[in-house]
This record gives sequence, structure tokens and C-alpha cells, in this order.
Amino acid sequence: MQQNYTIDRNGLDVSTIEHRTSRHSLPKLSVENLSKVYVGKGKQPVTALQDININIFARELICLVGTSGCGKSTLLNIIAGLLPPSTGNVLVDGRCITGRPGSDRGMVFQGYTLYPWLTVAQNIAFGLQFQQMTKAAERDRVGYFLNVVGLEKFAHSYPKQLSGGMKQRVAIARALANEPAMLLMDEPFGALDAQTKEQMQEFLLELWEKTHVTVLMITHDVEEAIYLSERIYLLEAGLVKAEIPVCLPAHRELDLKLSAEFVDIKRQVINLMSQHY
Ligand code: ADP
Ligand code: MG
Repeated sequence: MQQNYTIDRNGLDVSTIEHRTSRHSLPKLSVENLSKVYVGKGKQPVTALQDININIFARELICLVGTSGCGKSTLLNIIAGLLPPSTGNVLVDGRCITGRPGSDRGMVFQGYTLYPWLTVAQNIAFGLQFQQMTKAAERDRVGYFLNVVGLEKFAHSYPKQLSGGMKQRVAIARALANEPAMLLMDEPFGALDAQTKEQMQEFLLELWEKTHVTVLMITHDVEEAIYLSERIYLLEAGLVKAEIPVCLPAHRELDLKLSAEFVDIKRQVINLMSQHY
């Protein structure tokens, strides 16, 4: 159904994404008893995930943090429906969607995965060709999300003409253009320099505060996870080692990273991580 967009002062629509339930209702996303063993011809099987159970409620922004190789991308790809699990299930709104990708889950991959031969606007429009939309509605939708990510002036530029941060903003706009109930992001800011990364963290929080899309983001950066999330799942060697609540003010500013409460949570997470070694 065609949706009318209204853009507020900050260029973000408060009414667009309307999946607004509370933690008292069903989780938006559940992962139940999930495991993954990679089996290759003539190779030793690799157990990437073991008995993973996580719940994410509508409007939450949750980070999954863990060191390289602990199974983060495997888990996100299974949630996205791009990879089958060995056992267990993925549920969205209580419905089993294991192994099935869907427009309810928008994915932003690690690195820059834009189509280099398409302009910024064409990249954002890419997924819309599979929806039954008029050209005019498609143009409106693309224009709206170009505005959301602040790239109207670059609509006709090609990815190679953009900085790393801008490319990731296009990737986020492309995912949001399908109006997913959930945004899944795999280390989206991992390849950016420190300053751009902080700008993108602020951008993501602003986007999330305004739209309240449910976000599951993967990162290996503990500070990034604490700054962005309300809860953190700590993944280690294919297991959920801990679920850590982040008791910090809902509205975050960058200088929060210097506060005693922030440093305290960081110490707690790092201690939990290092106990393994
Ligand atoms: P992370 O994203 O946390 O770095 P991955 O999910 O990419 O971790 O990988 C988890 C484990 O699974 C690693 O040991 C990795 O080598 C292994 N792995 C990932 N993909 C494959 C694959 N296609 N075949 C075999 N092993 C894999
Ligand atoms: Mg990974």
C-alpha cells in the first residue's frame, strides 16, 4: 500500500515505521536453540554456533558483540534467511521464518556492497522493483530516503564518487527503502576511520530515535556496542556468553563515552570477554 511521507524539521519522518509494540508483547525476533555446523567436502566440520537463544523486542537497538571468528556473521546471515541453520529456528512476530529471506528484514552488510554501475538513487531504488509500485511512488520513496540519510545532492553520483561513510548511508537507505520491520547490520562501520565512525554512530542513533525501527547490529567494537545499545549479547566461540543491560540515558551524546558509568560497563564487558582466555 502506498504510504504518504511527511518530513519533519530534521528531515526524518516520525510516522513512517510503525512497528511499535512494547517488551510485554511477543518478541519481534526470536532465535531458538540455534546451531550451525559448516560441513565441507574433505574438510573437518566447523561448529560456528551452538544453542543460541536470543530475543529482540520491537523498537530495541541491540548489539551483538564478539571477537573475530566467534560466529557473528553466521548468526546474522541465518537470521536474514540467507543461510540455513543446522538446528533451531528463527521467528519473526512468533512466526517461523527459518531459511526464508524476507523484506521484513533489511540487511546492511560488512564493507560496501553497493552496485557500482548504479547511481545512489538507483541503488536505493533497487529493491523496490520487486514491489508493485508506480514509478512516481518509487521516486517519492527514493527521494524521501535520500533526505533521511542527507544525500539528496548525491542522487545522481556513483558509489566510487562517495566517501566510505556516505556509501554506508546509501546502504542503510537502500535497506530502509523497503520499509523493513527490522534492520540487520553486520559491522556496518568497521571499515571507517575513527571520526567518520563516530559520525555514523550518531547518525544511526538519530535515525533510530526518529523511526524506532528495530535494529540488530553486529560489531567487534565494545565501545560502539555500549554507546548504541540498550542491551548487548556477548558472543564467544559460537555461544552466547552473556546478556548485558546497558543502563545509560536513552538519549546518547558522544561525550557519554567518557563518563564513569560508560567506562564501568566497558570494563564489565571486557572482563567477561577476557575470562575465556
Ligand atoms: P565472525 O563474523 O564473528 O568473524 P563468522 O560467522 O564469519 O565469524 O565465522 C565463524 C566460524 O565459522 C569461523 O571459524 C569461520 O572460519 C567459520 N566459517 C564461516 N563461514 C564458513 C564457511 N562457509 N565454511 C566453513 N567455515 C566457515
Ligand atoms: Mg563477520
